[in-house]
Amino acid sequence: MSDGCVYLVGAGPGDPGLMTIRGRDLLNRADAVVYDHLAARRLLAEAPPQAEMIYVGKQAAAHTLKQEEINALLVRLGLEGKQVVRLKGGDPFVFGRGGEEALALVEAGVAFEIVPGITAGIAAPAYAGIPVTHRNVTSCMALITGHETPDKEESDLDYASLANWPGTLGFYMGVKNLPKIASSLIEHGMDPQTPAALVRWGTTTRQETVTGTLDNITEVATQAGIKPPALIVVGHVVALRENISWFENRPLFGKRIVVTRARLQASRVTRQLEELGAEVVELPAIRIEPPADPAPLDRAAAELASVDWVVFTSANGVDAFFGALKRADLDSRALAGVRICVIGPGTARRLGQFGLQADAQPKTYKAAEISQTLADIDDLSGKKIICPRADIAPKDLVVDLEALGADVTDIAAYRTVGETPEPELLDELFEDGGPDWITFTSSSTVTNFVNAVGIDRLRASSASLASIGPVTSGTMRSLDFEPDVEAVSHTIPGLVEAILQAQTQREQ
Ligand code: SAH
Repeated sequence: MSDGCVYLVGAGPGDPGLMTIRGRDLLNRADAVVYDHLAARRLLAEAPPQAEMIYVGKQAAAHTLKQEEINALLVRLGLEGKQVVRLKGGDPFVFGRGGEEALALVEAGVAFEIVPGITAGIAAPAYAGIPVTHRNVTSCMALITGHETPDKEESDLDYASLANWPGTLGFYMGVKNLPKIASSLIEHGMDPQTPAALVRWGTTTRQETVTGTLDNITEVATQAGIKPPALIVVGHVVALRENISWFENRPLFGKRIVVTRARLQASRVTRQLEELGAEVVELPAIRIEPPADPAPLDRAAAELASVDWVVFTSANGVDAFFGALKRADLDSRALAGVRICVIGPGTARRLGQFGLQADAQPKTYKAAEISQTLADIDDLSGKKIICPRADIAPKDLVVDLEALGADVTDIAAYRTVGETPEPELLDELFEDGGPDWITFTSSSTVTNFVNAVGIDRLRASSASLASIGPVTSGTMRSLDFEPDVEAVSHTIPGLVEAILQAQTQREQ
């Protein structure tokens, strides 16, 4: 009766990069997404903005919807003719109750499809440097639920068989039962010296691994405070971690770093930090909005014929300017007779996306050097220069160019507005000394972040502060905060490099 379809999609173990292409394609065009707490938040952003997002929970303690209710929900959405993505952690058929959901769909006559995912039992050990099989060590693996029906006297598991299993054991949902699992295996004859490990939040930047042997793993895990979700691995392959461990060895692994840039621009710095192993918290202190009065920008875009130079001091300025060109039904060709100056590589790259190359760029990324750079290649006397910039940009640039005889129009092309982060998010972030690093990529991120967090809380935290350059550092100092590092090259890679160097030095 309808063309609805329910896709039971494996979201993978946590790292958002570990989902299948098929899964992501379906997510990209879903009408509704039904997800639980192990699905990576960042994957949810792959759904179209208008998609219905339904959280059905499932944390050990707090079941948000009962399984029957989830089944009924999937059936209803399917019958409504929707393309439904049921996003499940890991693989949908490995302890995910995907089998039950599929049966409910069959019974109701709703079309469905299964999209397998990488299961935690394989991925979490892999990210801990534990190959679940190895030619010289073991040739099989068992996937086992460590969760047992609480009111049963007898164990659900056949420990006699498991203790004799000739390979790797991977227990899901077993943290609470770890003492029982370990002691039962020993009781049934497994060597107490068998290596064992717990991997918590495997494949994510919060990954934590502990290792021991069957007879001490409970104590080790308790001492380390390992809580769910964690995977228990038992077997001789665990010993290989000593050599193969890789993910946890990355230089910024375990460091929590706050990115305060506007959300739309955060992705580059976030990716670079994550690739070095950091746990990045995006807490935008600012967002970019159209100017209070768009008329001057629109007028400038329509009257380029008389302009000699356009000076761009940010990628945002480039975006705003090309937005105005588009509104005037124009494109890059309107700039044919105009020369262009950009402040630095980020702005140059954005300009490049519109198919244009700059005629001038200061050797170092500094607004103060723009006028000299232009003066070196052009006599500015009487030249018409437009500067589409932030509404709050310092006036020095205009003053410098005017001093060289130019006719300068400073245009408020966009506004930088303070963003208010969720109070709970801030409280959580500044618990226990706060993050390891906070990054500032402009003066406005400094003032707005300090405003949002509060001077006292920031002072009390042990976070190190990283600044992209002297102007940003100056703003920090004016508020009595000394940057711990300042980027040598005032770019995002420069900022990341500065943090990396400082962190490596500290650890030596
Ligand atoms: N369908 C999922 C498993 C769901 S059962 C899969 O295929 O992975 C939930 C259990 O999976 C958790 O209690 C934990 O034991 C394990 N698990 C899920 N994600 C994990 C992760 N990132 N790291 C370690 N264990 C994880």
